[in-house]
Amino acid sequence: MDLIVGGGVVGLSIAWRLARAGQDVTVIDPAPASGASHAAAGMLAPVSEVAYTEEPLLRLGLAALERWPAFAAELEADSGLSVDYRAHGTLDVAFGADDLAALEELAAFMDKLGLPVERLTGRECRRLEPMLSPSVRGGVLAGGDAWVDPRRVTAALLAALETMRVPVVPRRATDLLDGAVRLADGEILTGERVVLAAGAWSGELADVPVRPVKGQIMRLRSPHPLLGRCVRGMVHGSPVYLVPRGDGEVVVGATQEELGFDTRVTAGGLYELLRDARELVPGVTELELADVVAGLRPCTPDNLPLVGEVRRGLALATGHHRGGVLLAPLTTALLQGEEPELAALCSPQRF
Ligand code: FAD
Repeated sequence: MDLIVGGGVVGLSIAWRLARAGQDVTVIDPAPASGASHAAAGMLAPVSEVAYTEEPLLRLGLAALERWPAFAAELEADSGLSVDYRAHGTLDVAFGADDLAALEELAAFMDKLGLPVERLTGRECRRLEPMLSPSVRGGVLAGGDAWVDPRRVTAALLAALETMRVPVVPRRATDLLDGAVRLADGEILTGERVVLAAGAWSGELADVPVRPVKGQIMRLRSPHPLLGRCVRGMVHGSPVYLVPRGDGEVVVGATQEELGFDTRVTAGGLYELLRDARELVPGVTELELADVVAGLRPCTPDNLPLVGEVRRGLALATGHHRGGVLLAPLTTALLQGEEPELAALCSPQRF
């Protein structure tokens, strides 16, 4: 039996796929789906999120994105719940001449990598997204990017696990032993393999280089769909994005703060998000504020996840930083021994 420690999008996805493959699994988590997965925007956007030094992460992201349509369809079939998977792309927009030059440079880098992106004028951007500010000067459309609602994904995973009678033990793990887990009340659960998927808290249970990176994010409610696709841009040097949901919700995110395990929502964090989002889409300030939350991204020194066995009886599935929702379907495949070349990029042995 596999004992999965942590029931966020990563741990729950692993449990579901293993159970589906006929394996015996138990999930241990005092508060499933309450961590970073509860905060996440749910962008499945490896192309628009590409960064100059992160080509290995891009490879993982593209492979994960390819798996999402089948993953979502099977999860919806198993759970009877929608995950709001949408594949209408991301529009990355620029304002000033400097922003436009930076975006043009990024587009050239994307071309060099063979990524399918389309350059648009300001007018073409507004034709696609009429609510964009008139000051938008141009943009780049990554038409293959997609998104889901992570809260719906974890709800669907928990429902699917319940249907399959996979136990979710609502208790905290305090020690990982070889093939066993000690719980806070002293009880020891025994299996064959422990999979550590405790997100930003993984370092409390094993010697792994994972640190929390705080992200504040808000959800707004709109009576009418405000946007047709994800919109992102740089404003005053900081990135901001808006993600539309099927039910009219618009997610605005997200700050990146190195503040340890601090999860306070601050006035300054929300002010920055709203100030920047309003530059992109002036209408956002008219919307109803539905929810604000801060989550902790599990970050590693090279921004790549840690997936695979560290020793007999212990495997890691953590450190997914900004992309745990995107990477969840691939992570389960890597743990099941698929795609060895990509698995090598995530090997815990690299540290
Ligand atoms: P978590 O969701 O944090 O789950 C860890 C679980 O471990 C928790 O449920 C916790 O209760 C449990 N746990 C902790 N300690 C113990 C213990 N001792 N015993 C048992 N259980 C324990 N990713 C994307 O792909 N796209 C996005 O658009 C995106 N946007 C984001 C926006 C924000 C603001 C943030 C914060 C993150 C975002 N991410 C995004 C990143 C994504 O949320 C994470 O990479 C992903 O959720 C990590 O999932 P996880 O299951 O590893 O961790």
